[in-house]
Amino acid sequence: MDDEDLRVAVYRRFTETGLEPTAAGLAEELLTDQEAVRQALRRLADQRHVVLGPDDRIVMAHPFTSVPMGFAVMGTRTLWWGGCAWDSFALPHLVPGEPEVLVSTTCPNCRRPLAWTVGRDKPPPGRDVAHFMTPAAHMWDDVLRTCSNQRIFCDAECVDAWVAREGLERGYAMDLATLWRLARGWYAGRLDPGYSGREPAAAAGYFREVGLEGPFWSL
Ligand SMILES: [Zn+2]
Ligand SMILES: [Zn+2]
Repeated sequence: MDDEDLRVAVYRRFTETGLEPTAAGLAEELLTDQEAVRQALRRLADQRHVVLGPDDRIVMAHPFTSVPMGFAVMGTRTLWWGGCAWDSFALPHLVPGEPEVLVSTTCPNCRRPLAWTVGRDKPPPGRDVAHFMTPAAHMWDDVLRTCSNQRIFCDAECVDAWVAREGLERGYAMDLATLWRLARGWYAGRLDPGYSGREPAAAAGYFREVGLEGPFWSL
């Protein structure tokens, strides 16, 4: 087993089941032992392909997560935890055979239930606002906290009320069309063997292309 075989297996399990890939299951599939899997997972975590919990369990392989972060994503065959707003909107673009999903959440401010049918062709309608707390250059400082705070609110008033109540500074707010463009191509290639990630210059170019500019998005 090389690390790339393991990475692809992790992604395949998340894609097909929506569930956390376990070291035992991965070892069995890749004909190796659990300790070798755990060591390889730590190397993949160093390269930001996966995020591990304190006990080395797989918490995220972006855009997938094994823990609730405020979103659920329902396809025709599979139900996933959605990661953050960005990750949830990415799933229909990434998962083969699931071109349209139901993304649901609650507004962090007023707890109103919110849901959109998200597909590949055009952004869903709605005046809801996606709000990100952590500037792009620092998103990986504590990526679970970053994703947990990339949420969708009813509108700008709910964002303002929430940041005031939580004693936070307002981050970056965008409409659903911008969120959809951000999510559309960001994770392209991740399910396939040979994926190597995106250099900071290419990432910054991608942000500009989808209309995200300024200090919050500089890398
Ligand atoms: Zn609200
Ligand atoms: Zn995320």
